[in-house]
Amino acid sequence: MAISSARSSATPPEDSAEPAGLTDVYAHPLSTRRLPKHRMPQGPHDPDTVLQLIRDELDLDGNAAQNLATFCTTWSPPQIHRLMDLSLVKNMIDKDEYPQTAEIEARCVRMLADLWHAPAGGGARGCSTTGSSEAAMLGGLALKWRWRAARQAAGKPADRPNLVCGPVQVCWEKFARYFDVELRQVPLQQDATGMRPEQLSAYVDENTIGVVAILGVTYTCDYEPVRAFAEELDALQRKTGLDVPLHVDAASGGFVAPFLHPDLEWDFRLPRVASINSSGHKYGLAPLGVGWAVWRSAEALPEELVFHVSYLGGDMPTFALNFSRPGGSVIAQYALLLGLGREGYRRVHQSCADTAAALAEQIAEAGPFTVLYDGQGALPALSYTLTDPDRAGFTLYDLSEQLRMRGWQVPAYPLPPDRGETVIQRVLVRHGISRDKADLFAEDLRHCLRRLSGTGPDAGAPRVGFHH
Ligand SMILES: *Cc1c(COP(=O)(O)O)cnc(C)c1O
Repeated sequence: MAISSARSSATPPEDSAEPAGLTDVYAHPLSTRRLPKHRMPQGPHDPDTVLQLIRDELDLDGNAAQNLATFCTTWSPPQIHRLMDLSLVKNMIDKDEYPQTAEIEARCVRMLADLWHAPAGGGARGCSTTGSSEAAMLGGLALKWRWRAARQAAGKPADRPNLVCGPVQVCWEKFARYFDVELRQVPLQQDATGMRPEQLSAYVDENTIGVVAILGVTYTCDYEPVRAFAEELDALQRKTGLDVPLHVDAASGGFVAPFLHPDLEWDFRLPRVASINSSGHKYGLAPLGVGWAVWRSAEALPEELVFHVSYLGGDMPTFALNFSRPGGSVIAQYALLLGLGREGYRRVHQSCADTAAALAEQIAEAGPFTVLYDGQGALPALSYTLTDPDRAGFTLYDLSEQLRMRGWQVPAYPLPPDRGETVIQRVLVRHGISRDKADLFAEDLRHCLRRLSGTGPDAGAPRVGFHH
């Protein structure tokens, strides 16, 4: 935004005429007209006015602090704001120009490889990305390249790769389409919220580049049983000789399980796990724009996929879909790892999990719901459904809409196709949602229920605005 109020030519453009000495932004000519929306204006405008008017427009967005729908960070401490400001110019790709930013990225990769139990001295490799989607593409590409190399070495056709998974996030559908891989999505069994290990062998064959396990299923927030998948694939290898690697999409769980469920074996402790992705900007608590991909060893990441850029006169391997990309959220991630430490992350997430459990109790007591997940054992979140949707007299979509009137954003959506008749609602309890705020939400929810079921003091009555 190159904005300046200086006038360079003798005749100022019509749309930037400014009466001299006028300082109030709402009296500025720009404030008295509709903002240009199709054609870039000819002349410059006062930067303070532009700032204020754009702020005003952004106010119409949902309030992030009441966004219970997103997995992503909606609150950061002031120090992170300051670091982000300092990092405005840091380009992640310029390893030579900003070697300390590159070094900070490498430290994060080492810390995460260690957190996820990569074998010490085993040559784990990894990189930051713009999020888990890019990290998933990279993980998928590595699987595809490894599979193809092995097929070619064995003199077998390598033109029909497939990837086996359960109810994955859309990034895996994207990967499959963009990189020409058949996505074999295993249908959900009745009452299941993820793939079940015994389903695997019917879908895996010699063209399977890998199996994706999800640590933190997007729909329901529980974990798929990664260890049981690994054991199933071990058994399959003993029986058939097929050696199929596991990739763990730990977009959310990668920054939760190590702190809340340290004994759960889902990571590189399982030799079958070749690679892991996670979103720094979800439970990693970093601002938007950072994800991580880590491979167990150099063999898990084929050399042909790695590009080399110059770095301090030397050479730095890079693996990314992007070139230029902001470095701020990577730097912020390091500050958070450093500042919170393992104990800090544990406390942040534990308090969210406790709040989720308390909220689940209130939801269960409210009457019409069955709680599907109460925030214990996996992500700090909860999900629930209507116990008797036909008799409830309202849908969860209606409830979402009602909650929105108080600013709460809570999604309602059907489970994946095989269980698509079940509509659920999901509340993510993240950093920034205190116990008291959760109580305020529950109170609003009960109020909405009274209104929807026609039993509230205001049911049917003309709506006057003093209830809250
Ligand atoms: C959020 C999510 C993704 C996508 O991550 P982004 O960081 O938003 O790109 C992928 N997989 C799962 C399981 C997720 O929850």
